[in-house]
Amino acid sequence: MEVTGSKKDSCGVFGVCSREQDIVHSIYCGLMSLQHRGQESAGISTLKNGRLSTRKVWGLVSQNLKPKLWRLSGHVGIGHVRYSTTGSSTLANAQPMTDSHFAFAHNGNVANYMSVRKRLLNEGLRLRTNSDAEIMLRLFRRYYEESGDYAVAMESMASQLEGGYSIIILTSRGELIAARDPLGFRPLCQGMTEGSTAFASESVALDGNNIRLVGDVDPGTLLVASRNGIEEFRYNSCNRRAHCMFEYVYFSRVDSIIEGRSVYNVRFNLGVNLAKTYGIKSDVVIPVPDTSRTAAEGYSRQTGTPVAEGLIKNRYIHRTFIMPRQRDRDAAMKLKINPLKSVVTGKEVLIIDDSIVRGTTSKAIVNMVKNAGAKKVHMMSTCPPIISPCFYGIDIASYGELIAARMDIESIKEKIGSDSLGYQTLDGLVDAIGLPKEDLCLGCLTGEYPTPYVQRILEALKERSGIGTTRAWEAEIPV
Ligand code: 5GP
Ligand code: MG
Repeated sequence: MEVTGSKKDSCGVFGVCSREQDIVHSIYCGLMSLQHRGQESAGISTLKNGRLSTRKVWGLVSQNLKPKLWRLSGHVGIGHVRYSTTGSSTLANAQPMTDSHFAFAHNGNVANYMSVRKRLLNEGLRLRTNSDAEIMLRLFRRYYEESGDYAVAMESMASQLEGGYSIIILTSRGELIAARDPLGFRPLCQGMTEGSTAFASESVALDGNNIRLVGDVDPGTLLVASRNGIEEFRYNSCNRRAHCMFEYVYFSRVDSIIEGRSVYNVRFNLGVNLAKTYGIKSDVVIPVPDTSRTAAEGYSRQTGTPVAEGLIKNRYIHRTFIMPRQRDRDAAMKLKINPLKSVVTGKEVLIIDDSIVRGTTSKAIVNMVKNAGAKKVHMMSTCPPIISPCFYGIDIASYGELIAARMDIESIKEKIGSDSLGYQTLDGLVDAIGLPKEDLCLGCLTGEYPTPYVQRILEALKERSGIGTTRAWEAEIPV
């Protein structure tokens, strides 16, 4: 089996356990609210009369999953939406991943997947997929059978894995298990109503269900919800945290609350801090839709410059970012975003995007806004320069594709063709998030990673110059 691509997931998970109600509609609503976290595939597992039933589909929840739901029912279940990079995608790699006892779904990425996989294969295990979810499910099952204890199974599994994972598991005994890796890279929150408990990647999925947010699942803990209530186990005592800054910058929905921080407030502050750092005045501030709207509001409020929707996004075009070929990404940008002449012609404009990864978006936008007659174009990124790959679940996997890993800021400015270019400072980012710096994962901005295996891979990758577009977590580097 070819082992490329599809193990890498940034996803959304949702699970609910209810005393009275059928939960299928609730999972559907939860997944709809998490659709931005993944559009490649969607899946749902429920338990009825001691039997697990699972449906997995390609594409969108509303279009492809909805027609499959009518035969499902139950009081407990989980759902998943998946964003995977290109590669050997098959529906078998979609989640929930199941065996006879568990339905398993997670969001994140096991950084040492290749070495764990190799070891399991050497032990004679036959793997059906090239997804990290399968090895997690297999390990969890093995250790549960040995110990009869979910927390012990989690502890044993986690001791072999390095990376970020927010997990939900449905058991054939009717339990709903939620757990987060010891450093808490990816979000996972808990909600409650009178008769039910839910877990979700983001609080927005609770809102859509009228479920009250209780708080975040503590990293290093495992929760078991059933009709009898909830039990909590601490399986790892690490106190360090490594919350992904990119959840705030780009990935999460702006109306979610993560680690007690409103994503809206964070993005607003990102705009304010850009204005404080650069203070560039212009005739108008324009966000690149949709993620940068709030930051543009913040920039505008701080400088007194009006904000306007000068770039209009075609809402039916998704996923230009993960198209494999640069040519396709460039062409797709023209269809995806169109400048409003009445807003930009004859003006000095300041454009804010959440991040610059390859520079495709910024270059195309500067070009189209200039062609539409703007006098001057300033470009701002709410995220500091991304100089290093992500191993923990965000789709920035190789040095070669990161423009800021190859060029200095002046050269990037030349390349995208703007009159000025301003990136957020690291301090500006940390201040906007409002969590202590040591509780954040800033690996893609600093090259300093919170886990040792990843740090070693990175150093080996750097030494092997010319590594180009090898996806970091796929590099066959002995460490
Ligand atoms: P670039 O065009 O520089 O490669 O990417 C920057 C743009 O892609 C920004 O507009 C940002 O909103 C978006 N972006 C950043 N990270 C991701 C990601 O992981 N997935 C997707 N789909 N878009 C992203
Ligand atoms: Mg964008």
